[in-house]
Amino acid sequence: MVNSVAISLRGLTRRFGDVVAVDAIDLDVLDGEFLSLLGPSGSGKTTVLRMIAGFERPDAGTIELAGTDVTMTAPYARDVNTVFQDYALFPHMTVAENVQYGLRVKKVAKGERVERARAALTAVRLAGYEDRKPAQLSGGQRQRVALARALVNRPKVLLLDEPLGALDLKLREQMQVELKEIQREVGITFVFVTHDQDEALTMSDRIVVINEGRIEQLGTPTEVYEHPATAFVAGFVGISNLLDPVTAEQVIGRPGTWSVRPEKIHVHLSGEPAPAGHHHLSGTVREVIYVGMSTRFVVDLPAGGSLMAVRQNSEGSTDLGHLRGQCVNLSWDQRYEYQVSN
Ligand code: ATP
Repeated sequence: MVNSVAISLRGLTRRFGDVVAVDAIDLDVLDGEFLSLLGPSGSGKTTVLRMIAGFERPDAGTIELAGTDVTMTAPYARDVNTVFQDYALFPHMTVAENVQYGLRVKKVAKGERVERARAALTAVRLAGYEDRKPAQLSGGQRQRVALARALVNRPKVLLLDEPLGALDLKLREQMQVELKEIQREVGITFVFVTHDQDEALTMSDRIVVINEGRIEQLGTPTEVYEHPATAFVAGFVGISNLLDPVTAEQVIGRPGTWSVRPEKIHVHLSGEPAPAGHHHLSGTVREVIYVGMSTRFVVDLPAGGSLMAVRQNSEGSTDLGHLRGQCVNLSWDQRYEYQVSN
């Protein structure tokens, strides 16, 4: 089945003075997908989201929601809802009143209001919390009330701007999994802004990597991580090794800049030769960093530059500090090297 398009952006552009915050973006977001906009601070993610919501007018380009041009449509007339990081709940209202608030403004009858709020609170796993005040909830629960407050309107599209940014790491990781489950259950299209690559990889059906107002790559988490299209994506999403053209020519035998992920590089501790089909080189271990599940090696190359390699601590000795200063052989399967553009 081919998914229909929920949001279509064409040539979307927004300038602030001399800054081109969003630079002619073309993007189709599919019905029911969880799409993340991932990029560093100032890359234009929030501005894209605000234009979809209607809070910001584009200087050029068009926005369609479910095939209808809404570029000039007021925010309240668009079938989208936004959840922000600073989800201001009304402190004097109960959870149920907070969730029902939007429906009350729209003059939805009381019976339906109560029923829809109950359904939304059940969706975010907060059934039974209706009578609490926000102050009696944890940060994660408050964030889920904010989500319920948006879901209760049954929007076609939910826009989320770093909604987990205020939570501590443990809660944030837990909410990432929950939010993805909730999205799958309710089937609403989510556009999720984050600068956190782990968050984007964990939650998304597809990721749009944005840099300086432009799309660097659009793909599934696996595509973006395993096949970074540009040097920027290789460096921003996960840790990556870039082989400069001189080293690439020597090791790979082909021109251009190449990327290999650290976990694909095998460190030969006993000096055995690289298997057939693998590229190999040797270097001097500068750093051995123990990080619990794995050990990272930084290996200086004879021609300059260095590579990072990661070894899982699942077998054999994990105390490898004595390798510092030693010469080791490195190899990787050539299927795991990718040419990237600059
Ligand atoms: P962050 O992750 O820090 O929120 P972002 O990727 O969401 O960043 P935007 O907030 O979209 O980035 O900003 C993109 C660029 O536009 C930045 O250079 C920012 O300074 C600029 N910008 C955004 N809003 C305005 C504004 N109202 N006035 C002037 N410049 C702005």
